[in-house]
Amino acid sequence: MEIQYFEFLKYLVRFNRQVYLDHNATTPVGDRVRSKMERVLKYQYGNPSSFYGLGRKSAGLVEQARKQVSQVIHADPSEVIFTSCASESNNAVLKSVAAHFYPKKKKIISSPIEHPSVTNTLAYLETQGVLVEYCRVDDKGRVLLADLEKRMDRDTFLVCCILANNETGVIQDIGTVTKIARRHGALVLTDCVQALGKMPIDVHAWDVDYASFSAHKLYGPKGIGALYVKRGSPFMPLLHGGHQEGGMRAGTENLHNIVGFGAACQDVDKLLAHTKQIRVLKRQLIQRLREIKPNCVINTPEAEAECLPNTLSITFPGVDNAGLMGMLDFRGIAVSAGSACSTGEDTPSHVLKAIGLSDQAARETIRISLGHGNTARDIRYMTQVVQDFIEGRVSFVNMLAPAQLNETILFDEKTFILDVRPPDDRKQFKGLPNAHEVNPLQVERYLKQLPREKRILVYCPGGGLSVMISYYLRAKGFKRVTNLRGGLDAWRKRRGDLYQKYAGQNVSVLQPDSEIPS
Ligand code: PLP
Repeated sequence: MEIQYFEFLKYLVRFNRQVYLDHNATTPVGDRVRSKMERVLKYQYGNPSSFYGLGRKSAGLVEQARKQVSQVIHADPSEVIFTSCASESNNAVLKSVAAHFYPKKKKIISSPIEHPSVTNTLAYLETQGVLVEYCRVDDKGRVLLADLEKRMDRDTFLVCCILANNETGVIQDIGTVTKIARRHGALVLTDCVQALGKMPIDVHAWDVDYASFSAHKLYGPKGIGALYVKRGSPFMPLLHGGHQEGGMRAGTENLHNIVGFGAACQDVDKLLAHTKQIRVLKRQLIQRLREIKPNCVINTPEAEAECLPNTLSITFPGVDNAGLMGMLDFRGIAVSAGSACSTGEDTPSHVLKAIGLSDQAARETIRISLGHGNTARDIRYMTQVVQDFIEGRVSFVNMLAPAQLNETILFDEKTFILDVRPPDDRKQFKGLPNAHEVNPLQVERYLKQLPREKRILVYCPGGGLSVMISYYLRAKGFKRVTNLRGGLDAWRKRRGDLYQKYAGQNVSVLQPDSEIPS
């Protein structure tokens, strides 16, 4: 359905706002954190390894930040290593512990709802011979402790269990997980990235061996992580080089980011106190969304102790999440479908699948993660857009059913076919004839090359990413944008005859503008 122009304008006037509801992806840097970092960038350029005064001052700042991080996780400063990010922390632990034990012991047991920095590292270790077993979780993602216990044996050297999941917010009983692991002589890695700043952390009380953290989830800078390694637990550095970080992680320290991480940790008490207000907002959000769509399904646990205060994973049966997210984005509202790391992939989230959602339900699910700048007004605004979308009052992007994509459209002079598939899908499958390939993560660098007078038909592998990009193009003033519903996969199935005949013909690759738009 093509929107009437005046309605479009009305929406622009009414909805010209920015509302950030994706704090599990990342958070804005706090003012105090930023000013401390700026001071370091401006004045404190000494290398912490240098012996003269300027260097010693920098080394002192690193140690101060280490203390600030260790305090909020209840560790000793000597047990904290700064890394480039939590992905590095997780990689470092998994690879070094595997190198330490394998092949004497062969098995790692993991929850199935870990972040990709764990699951993909485990997949790599499997190629090296390590056995990886995934224990079961219930429909809210809680690890089934009896199943974990059943899988443990003398061959198991490590248990990985994320403390609080990034997609659903479910919190695990990590103390009990550790007790089970200990009974069988295994070590424990817990990914605490989402938890720090949203719930109290006590690595000593939980008795875990390793824990990973990332500053950008708690109003600190991106590109700085931390790793807790319990004193005496085996650890080998991932990076070899200088003696930095007690020889555990080579490389000149990322000083301003380390200081920023420490400063962010100083605010943790305030963040924890503020979670009360965030819970109130989340309750309002759930109540409103239930009024709008009574058959919606809440995937996050409802008991407060079992879920992060800010996170809501919700399924709207019959509502395509990509379309909804595209519309929300069009209105300046940021939410996500799965973890930010899976953006650009068209596969449904492994976390949602692990808790029992079908592929279809996963594609009808969004994650809303609140933060400290959000207000009740944001909730009202966001839920109004959701309501308008669900009730079909707005639709700025035309949808083309795969069966309707025929030769007339494929060879229509007035249609510009835009291929926004990721590179691996392009390698695997030939695309629509006459298509123009662009890098889907940098669409803004091709805008000048897209013809405004033509209809733009956007397609991706599954129809999810393309709908987001379709809405983006609408927001950039392209008036006739059509999304191929179900993407190339659906079209190949519905129109195998046309696919056989024309796929891959006359495809061109557009070059991005060298200028990166601000
Ligand atoms: N673990 C979890 C649970 C996360 O949510 C993230 C980031 O999204 C990471 C690890 C990776 O953190 P980083 O971005 O610092 O590599």
